[in-house]
Amino acid sequence: MPVGDAVPVGGAVPKDERHVVIVGGGIAGLVAARELALGGVVVTLLEASGSLGGKVASQDIAGIRVDSGAESFATRRGTVASLAVDLGLGDQVRAPNPAGAWLQRSHGHAVPMPKSGLLGIPGTPLAADVIAVVGLAGAFRAQLDSLLMLTGSKERTLGGLVRRRMGNRILDDLVAPVVLGVHSRHPDELDVDVVAPGLRKALLAKNSLAQAVLELRGAAPAGSAVNGIDGGIARLVETLAEKLPRLGVEVRLDSPVDDVRADRVTLRSGEVLEADRVIQACQLGGQGADTIVLATLVVDSPQLDDAPRGTGLLVAPGAHGILAKALTHTTAKWPWLAATVGKGRHVIRLSYNADVAPQGLQEQARSDAEKLLGVPIPPASVVGFARVGWPAPPAAQPVPEGVIVIGESVAGVGLAAVVGQARQQVEKLLRDFEQ
Ligand SMILES: Cc1cc2nc3c(=O)[nH]c(=O)nc-3n(C[C@H](O)[C@H](O)[C@H](O)COP(=O)(O)OP(=O)(O)OC[C@H]3O[C@@H](n4cnc5c(N)ncnc54)[C@H](O)[C@@H]3O)c2cc1C
Repeated sequence: MPVGDAVPVGGAVPKDERHVVIVGGGIAGLVAARELALGGVVVTLLEASGSLGGKVASQDIAGIRVDSGAESFATRRGTVASLAVDLGLGDQVRAPNPAGAWLQRSHGHAVPMPKSGLLGIPGTPLAADVIAVVGLAGAFRAQLDSLLMLTGSKERTLGGLVRRRMGNRILDDLVAPVVLGVHSRHPDELDVDVVAPGLRKALLAKNSLAQAVLELRGAAPAGSAVNGIDGGIARLVETLAEKLPRLGVEVRLDSPVDDVRADRVTLRSGEVLEADRVIQACQLGGQGADTIVLATLVVDSPQLDDAPRGTGLLVAPGAHGILAKALTHTTAKWPWLAATVGKGRHVIRLSYNADVAPQGLQEQARSDAEKLLGVPIPPASVVGFARVGWPAPPAAQPVPEGVIVIGESVAGVGLAAVVGQARQQVEKLLRDFEQ
């Protein structure tokens, strides 16, 4: 049976006598707990750590509260915005500064990110903003795409496809930095149909990758692709966590689970909890080592008030003397945060591979930020620093028949995907309970 398929629940037991145990208190588990409780089901939520929210979390740096994991959500289908509305946060949804991001090239200075791209693949290879990144020769090579008919359409990886159609410069200088920033993996390691659904089909229809990009972008609704919440995304999980006990959900922190079955879970303590159904909202057997490290600086630098690099930069691999993979100028991206913090003070978040040494990270981040943003950030201007590590998204695991799986491992990375899939699974379970 495929992962997460439901088995029929027989008998006409009233819903309020149904008991569901949810394992994992990230946003997936929290959303599922709320919706089941609202549906009248008795819910126990088991969370391994001492706090709820998982990769949606916040931290205080120099008295400023900032997200330490997810900091925005995709607006597609309105999934997360509708959750915000349900939680009473609908009027707190905020669009980011539309200035857009920049790209630090491997050689030379930073340039604005080309406008008409998809994962860095240009829709208009000869546009001036593309030439500024890959040079004229790179842009002409990319333009050959329009003459190549079906070349590369059988390539399975995003990297393979882009290389065959548009050449190495586009792949190395544009697509790799964007994709490494978004997915933390090189395009050569990513299935094109997973990270860019519909792209190969559009390529086959148009005989051009650039045209396929334009078609997919044209199909996307207008407006900002991501939004945030005034005060930070973590407010979503804090509000959920506040509401659950009032809905009668039993929340148990510091309760790691070692084994799940369709009708019971075994905690690490040896305790066994029985249930009508079990929902697994995490990876069992440990989350694995951290693969990404975030270094957040709070600095006093009035020169940053002008947002010299828009909302931040993606960094091409090999950029001289820079270890960061990406930089978010958080106070430039989110006007609500700039207003809270006040003029002249800035929050800058840089991401690194997990092998970056913890000693000296603050100085590395400061030096990278200075080079990337192009303004002096002397050590004395740093008023706060924090480091946080996160594991890679879990892969789907086989689960015993009847266990419902929700969350990143099956839904894919990102709040929109995770919240949407958790809601679908809960609706299905509530229907099963009705039968
Ligand atoms: C640095 C970073 C930045 C991100 N930025 C964004 C962004 O801007 N926008 C966006 O949409 N997405 C972003 N994401 C992705 C997004 O945060 C995740 O896809 C989403 O939060 C995953 O939610 P989840 O509930 O599936 O899993 P998790 O958040 O991983 O939650 C799983 C929970 O299960 C618990 N758990 C684990 N094992 C057990 C066990 N054995 N027993 C009980 N409990 C257990 C964990 O402690 C955790 O609380 C980001 C992720 C990271 C790491």
